[in-house]
Amino acid sequence: MANNLLEILKYAKIRNFEANYASDIHDDFYFGFPVKGILDAEQKLLSSKEKTIAYFSMEYGLATNVYNIYSASKPVKPENKLSENDIISNNRIPDYLFTLKFDNLLDLPIYSGGLGVLAGDTIKTAADLRMPLVAIGILWNKGYFKQRFWFKFGQLPEEMKWDPQTFPGLVPLENKIKLELKNRNIYLRLWKYYVFNQAKDFAVPLVLLDSNVEENDIEARRLTDRLYKSDDVDGRLLQRIILGMGGMKALEELGYPISLYHLNEGHAAFAFVQLARKENKKDIENLKFKFAYTCHTPVPAGHDRFSLSDCERVLTSPDFDLVKACGTADSEPGIVNLTILAMNTSYSINAVSKIHGDVMRFQFPTYKNKIKSVTNGVHFPTWVSEPIKKFLKTYDKVLGDFENDPTLLKNVLKCKEDPDFRTGLWAAHQENKKKFAQLLHQWKIREDVLTLCWARRIAAYKRPSLIFQDIERLEGMAKRIGPLQIFYAGKAHPNDNLAFTYINEIMNTVDKLNEANGNLKIVMLENYDIHMAKFLVSGVDVWLNNPLPPNEASGTSGMKAMANAVLQLSTVDGWVAEATHEDIGQFFGFRHDGKTFTNDLVLRLDEDSKALYEALENMMGLYYGLNQQGALKIQSPWLDKMINCLSSASYFNTFRMINEYRSDIWDF
Ligand SMILES: *Cc1c(COP(=O)(O)O)cnc(C)c1O
Repeated sequence: MANNLLEILKYAKIRNFEANYASDIHDDFYFGFPVKGILDAEQKLLSSKEKTIAYFSMEYGLATNVYNIYSASKPVKPENKLSENDIISNNRIPDYLFTLKFDNLLDLPIYSGGLGVLAGDTIKTAADLRMPLVAIGILWNKGYFKQRFWFKFGQLPEEMKWDPQTFPGLVPLENKIKLELKNRNIYLRLWKYYVFNQAKDFAVPLVLLDSNVEENDIEARRLTDRLYKSDDVDGRLLQRIILGMGGMKALEELGYPISLYHLNEGHAAFAFVQLARKENKKDIENLKFKFAYTCHTPVPAGHDRFSLSDCERVLTSPDFDLVKACGTADSEPGIVNLTILAMNTSYSINAVSKIHGDVMRFQFPTYKNKIKSVTNGVHFPTWVSEPIKKFLKTYDKVLGDFENDPTLLKNVLKCKEDPDFRTGLWAAHQENKKKFAQLLHQWKIREDVLTLCWARRIAAYKRPSLIFQDIERLEGMAKRIGPLQIFYAGKAHPNDNLAFTYINEIMNTVDKLNEANGNLKIVMLENYDIHMAKFLVSGVDVWLNNPLPPNEASGTSGMKAMANAVLQLSTVDGWVAEATHEDIGQFFGFRHDGKTFTNDLVLRLDEDSKALYEALENMMGLYYGLNQQGALKIQSPWLDKMINCLSSASYFNTFRMINEYRSDIWDF
């Protein structure tokens, strides 16, 4: 065995190495990537000279099939590949005859949506910046869930199967840890996945916890089966304990000296309890200086609550005493709230956009002086499409090294008056649209028709059916101004019964339009995932985003679209509230100052859909004005807006975001 390999194995021994992994991990290569990057990163992390960060998240969306794709010597097993997707459209014949088929590897299925994608984009950027950071998560043995359309009647969640043992780049370790709880122990196996940087010479290790081991009883083995799904309260609580306490034990087991623990959501708040136990609770106040907490949603369902008696049943008594002391508030007697626990045990608290910061200060007045905000971003190299990147590279003399520093994208403004730049950008966009149309050619998607997309988790506050409130008006507009193609995708959480009704409502609308004229085409894609997000955010003209303010903490999908010069049609909430001075599309609807928050959702569908139609009419006029007797109208404001989108992408990315964390939160 070569030296390099020995060095890797020193940190953590790979289980069944000879039998399963020896052909993919050898002297210099790790599933096709240079081993040196891993060694450098591990050395940096293990040396106590550096200030090191442990990043905790319940989910990670790494885009393993669209960015830095690992290769393996054995063919990828079918269960680790993308499945076929059904399509529901108002062009029913192809719906019956065809499906959307891909031969790609799966996204590592340990995420559900926005939070996971943000965590994935964040650690990719940490790798780009060569930071000594290790990420902690859970190996979800059955992923999240697979969305099936049940004809045109709604969503049928299906259990997902995949094979962690043969997923390229993912390796099980010999290392196991033991969680000591009241009257029982839970054992966890550790897995590792390296997240490489763009240059492929540095990597962030992601350590995943897995309760599916022989030592556990059958019920405990299932704890790490499905993300955001558990059979009972104890299961839900134990999943949080696994992430927080298990994560801390894993870091210790692997020998990582950590200076700072970054917790995403209250999910990971038990990490503090584990550290306090280890340090023998000597100095609780000082321990807080090792913790930073980020809150990702103002919506109450996103905040974990458990009764004191449930906690008492599961935790050892010293752990329970600490949780009771730090995790309860007078306003909610008898309840342990993990958000409160995280806020009470961290020196830093932050929201994920400015307006979310305002909402959070209203929701948690006790902590208002401590609450900061760092607006989310996206990892530009993951989300930019090949044609746009290739085009921008031809201007690298003006733009600079925008791939390594996307803040340089601001320089596109210098090219605004350059006719070649304007035509070239349009051509790159049309290339994306053409690829997209080819992918769905059976549905006769057209490249010269204004195309919109709404794709995200289906939830009431995101108002998925807003654009369908007055379908006759929409049809009238399409007839009068020019045709429309509207794409839809999104999963509803299997316990969110209200969200199901929106899927049904949209399907009904599509069904009623079955015989409609050719001016309005609606296409719903099954099983929204990162792979699909990547072609949607670049293949359409306009990204539609219409949450009810101020419920959207940040949102990120619009930023992915901006990285591809795709225009925004949006209400003013989350990150968008910080971009209203930018001419990047059209903003509409109810506005909120973020200074209050109520639980009752008054969705304002009537007035906001009217505002949406007006805004859309403007955009349609502009879009169809682009075509001047068959030629591109080069001075069209539409092209200005596309350029402004790219310019705004210089701010709304994780490179800028991490640098803010470094200066304001992590205090380097
Ligand atoms: C980006 C992304 C999200 C988050 O979208 P929002 O519009 O910010 O809610 C959710 N799911 C997938 C698959 C994504 O890629």
